Amino acid sequence: MTEQDCIFCKIGKGEAPSTFLHRDDRCFVIRDIHPKAPIHLLVIPLRHITAVAGLAAGDELLVGHLLTVAGQAAKREGLAENGYRLVVNQGVDGGQEVAHLHVHVLGGRRLGAMG
Ligand code: 5GP
Ligand code: ZN
Repeated sequence: MTEQDCIFCKIGKGEAPSTFLHRDDRCFVIRDIHPKAPIHLLVIPLRHITAVAGLAAGDELLVGHLLTVAGQAAKREGLAENGYRLVVNQGVDGGQEVAHLHVHVLGGRRLGAMG
């Protein structure tokens, strides 16, 4: 998938509709269109990075920023007390559907064991 037809790039550029819960110069937060938990957010970098495998030296601050924004968004959604789960899928076996790095924030119910 190229950057041109990447849905998350389009949303980031305002070329596809979505409601931003947060937006800054490096990333944005939206609700997942098919939520797998009562609260299901996506933290998405503006830069088109395919996935964890697309990260390079120098991206450490961006990755830290994504996790920090994820924690702040979770807190705003009222998830801080009971907890939540952050998920980053990588590739086919990881169940990645959109080839643009993103952090899932899942909460609002007791999540089952992973596997
Ligand atoms: P992945 O499986 O790649 O880790 O997760 C991609 C997620 O993006 C899925 O949970 C899917 O529901 C969500 N998604 C795909 N297209 C859109 C969209 O156009 N808008 C929003 N808000 N979420 C999307
Ligand atoms: Zn993209």
